[in-house]
Amino acid sequence: MYYNDNSIIYHNGEYIHPKCATGDIYSQTLHYGNGVFEGIRSYKTKTGTKIFKAEAHYKRLQYGTEVMNIPFEYSIEELIDITHKLLELNNFQDAYIRPIITTGANMGLGSPTESSLIIQCWEWGKLMGDKLLKVRTSSFQRPNPKSCFVDAKVTGHYINSILARNEANASGYDEAILLDMNNNVAECSGANVFIEKDGKLYTPPKGHIMPGITRSTIIELCKEVGICVEEKHFSLNEMKQADNAFFTGTAAEVVGLKSIDDYNFPKPWESTLGYKLMHLYKQEVLSERLTNFSKAV
Ligand code: PMP
Repeated sequence: MYYNDNSIIYHNGEYIHPKCATGDIYSQTLHYGNGVFEGIRSYKTKTGTKIFKAEAHYKRLQYGTEVMNIPFEYSIEELIDITHKLLELNNFQDAYIRPIITTGANMGLGSPTESSLIIQCWEWGKLMGDKLLKVRTSSFQRPNPKSCFVDAKVTGHYINSILARNEANASGYDEAILLDMNNNVAECSGANVFIEKDGKLYTPPKGHIMPGITRSTIIELCKEVGICVEEKHFSLNEMKQADNAFFTGTAAEVVGLKSIDDYNFPKPWESTLGYKLMHLYKQEVLSERLTNFSKAV
């Protein structure tokens, strides 16, 4: 699914077939989860292939290397150029791009002195599909921000997401909602959450969540089109009184929720702010919004 005989990845300065890449089995990434990655999308637009918010994604990748003290020399411009070239070599337009920085041999817990950059990509549609999601409250909490940098996309942090997703799927749900250490709603295993109540949107503030690039895009879109949105903590009980709710993420884009635990969101998806934003977001990634158009001409 991820590659075939013709696939090409970037690995430390070379464009090679995925099977030709080598990794160090003594790396901290493999043993302790000390690696940093990103999830980026490219879209086929009327004016060519567009890597959506490439700079923001690569800045978050750089931030991850800084907080984890992983040596990393690439500039944002270089990373973007490499990604464009990689898409061209694979002949992809609509794709998912997965850069990952792994560390060299080090069985100790001290800072790594070497790193490798791998960028993979594969042709890709929507991750979660278009159906509304049935979600459950997870028995797992989001990590305490004093235990790690929750806003960095570190490989090891995703154990928490995997546990929550497995638990949700094993009990018949599509996704999990994780609370933070203070019992406020935080996010799902790989996307941010918004609720709609009385014509207004609420989303948890930064602090216990991955500050999603899609989340920021949605907040910007709301401001542009006059939708009222507030970054504010809310409890599970409050979520269970919401009119509707949706997730946002690079992979999921904007996806509506059907229910949480035994609570069905009463407002039909097609009449929600989330639905409106789902369409605006699609136009934004494809550069088809009128405001962008007028900026361009
Ligand atoms: N939360 C978590 C835990 C995630 O892994 C992601 C995906 N990076 C998101 C939220 C959404 O972030 P983004 O919109 O930048 O993809």
